[in-house]
Amino acid sequence: MRRLVAALLIGLAASPAVAQTRYDTPWAHVETPAPGPARSIGGPARGCIAGAVALPAEGEGFQVLRRWRNRFWGNPELTRFITRFGGEVAATLKRPVLIGDMSQPRGGPMATGHRSHQMGVDVDILFTLGPMAAGAREALKDPPSMLRPGGLSVDDGRFAAAQVSLLRLAARDADVARVFVNFRLKKQLCDTLPAGNRAWLNKIRPWAGHDEHFHVRLRCPADSPACEDQDGVPPGDGCDETLDAWFRPPPPPDPNAPKPPPPKIPQLPAACDAVLNTP
Ligand SMILES: [Zn+2]
Repeated sequence: MRRLVAALLIGLAASPAVAQTRYDTPWAHVETPAPGPARSIGGPARGCIAGAVALPAEGEGFQVLRRWRNRFWGNPELTRFITRFGGEVAATLKRPVLIGDMSQPRGGPMATGHRSHQMGVDVDILFTLGPMAAGAREALKDPPSMLRPGGLSVDDGRFAAAQVSLLRLAARDADVARVFVNFRLKKQLCDTLPAGNRAWLNKIRPWAGHDEHFHVRLRCPADSPACEDQDGVPPGDGCDETLDAWFRPPPPPDPNAPKPPPPKIPQLPAACDAVLNTP
């Protein structure tokens, strides 16, 4: 029980654009999945998973990064997606993709790095293709950005046909709900893709960061009734106001606005208590 109340916020380093949390959370200390059939519970940024399965360190068309973080767990739907995606990438590009964080063994909030990835349906995938030696995969620190130094324009030498193929293959997968990429990369796709080959752009959603990896989020698995889907993506290719808004400077801060409260550990669904505490 102490573990439940030990969720103590110990610090924070945040910019509004790229939220970086730094918590001590009991979820980060659990080393094994909760037993039982796979169930994703809650939402991407306030949830957990029972019966998570581990993605192998490598397979056809994929290699996993930084296994020491123990974030290679997911709903079986997610490991099946990665296996399927890897196979398609291997057939198309003849090189493996590099798989980053999925979820912790029982999901939940992470001590560092993500707000979502909490219920085993999210995965980060590098834009840079492998292969990469096992030691280098564990030691990887700063993968190459697809933006030029300064971050104001797309590096065409890196964000090239293969990277567009990765996004297209992911977005066309029926189990994929959304693919998050840096807003400048989305704009590049909007500006360069020919008519008639743009329907998949719908699922490519602009976000901050995400210039060295893209983030794939699956729909809720059918056998996880307590999994809450986000609203569906709006119709159209998304090359619209929802994208343009990312390019406008934020309004100047209001000096009279009250100081925002410090961020809290999200309140998870009650069913997650049992997921955390089951031996
Ligand atoms: Zn992510």
